[in-house]
Amino acid sequence: MRVYNFSAGPAVLPEEVLKRAAEEMLEYGSSGQSVMEMSHRSKEYQAIIDSCEASLRKVMNIPDNYKVLFLQGGASMQFAMVPLNLMKKGRADFVITGQWATKAYKEAQRFGTANAVASSKDKTFSYIPELDESKFDKDADYFHICLNNTIYGTRFPKLPETGNVPLVADMSSCILSEPVDVSKFGLIYAGAQKNMGPAGLTVVIIREDLICDFPEDSKVPTMLQYKTHADNGSMFNTPPTYAIYILGLVLEWIKGKGGLTAMKEINEKKAKIIYDFLDNSSMFKATVQGADRSLMNIPFVTGNEELDAKFVAEAKKNGFVNIKGHRSVGGMRASIYNAMPVEGCEALVRFMADFEKNN
Ligand SMILES: *Cc1c(COP(=O)(O)O)cnc(C)c1O
Repeated sequence: MRVYNFSAGPAVLPEEVLKRAAEEMLEYGSSGQSVMEMSHRSKEYQAIIDSCEASLRKVMNIPDNYKVLFLQGGASMQFAMVPLNLMKKGRADFVITGQWATKAYKEAQRFGTANAVASSKDKTFSYIPELDESKFDKDADYFHICLNNTIYGTRFPKLPETGNVPLVADMSSCILSEPVDVSKFGLIYAGAQKNMGPAGLTVVIIREDLICDFPEDSKVPTMLQYKTHADNGSMFNTPPTYAIYILGLVLEWIKGKGGLTAMKEINEKKAKIIYDFLDNSSMFKATVQGADRSLMNIPFVTGNEELDAKFVAEAKKNGFVNIKGHRSVGGMRASIYNAMPVEGCEALVRFMADFEKNN
């Protein structure tokens, strides 16, 4: 029996997608083989990656002057690849809103001057700090944010105004959860394993003018140059073929649901079910307040570590798994990505109400 999986990532996938993948496991179309077994240079596979990219462009409304790259190495690889490719003058601004944002900031320091314009570390990253635009570096190569903070359950309620400085966003845990105006960004990156598909695939959406040439004798590895992948349709080497295929199915599923506008509506409804319960509970409490609350990751606590542990254990027995909070925050966290159905959120809240009554 399938459980309700609240994992922060790798995370739940739509059941329809898994069923379709199962049907096509042994033979994709009339190819006589599984997608996993196909040459990435085959006509059949080229059609799969092309249609995945076309779907992503359609679903996210990606302008023509942006390239879509299917890479590996996770979002963590982008912490290095972004500065390697974008730090021309050697300066970038960062907003420190959590562990991933901090890692991106620290990694960039290897390549140039990373400037922290604001941080919410003083309160365990439980809010998005006010941004003082006068502190922004007008000549920075880029301005980096982590749009949704997976561990702490915050998200930027609005985008920073960075003028001509390209905005770079780690969207690993919120991509495809609601519409975003891609033209407001210079570069967007996301590990697939939160809201897009299985682990092993990283999607980069980059404005073409930010893709630079490197000199012949550059020390930047070929594989870490965006140009390598842009010039070769993400086929310079073997891409994560199966993960791209699954992303294609996930995008078809999203289209069938009505696209990102519909996803947003459903996600707001799901989040409201849980936040409303937390705001009215005398046992459970959300750790984030107001407009900074994430739609995707909802951390909460009872205030008593033993009770938290008991809740996590009983939840698991009742089919609500991976609900333990990140080790740096403690408590619980319900990650409710696109593939978590409304019923999963309703069932969780019913279970929490019962637990509250009995404890
Ligand atoms: C999970 C996550 C990462 C790390 O992703 P990897 O693919 O494991 O490198 C980075 N940033 C955010 C916001 C995440 O949620």
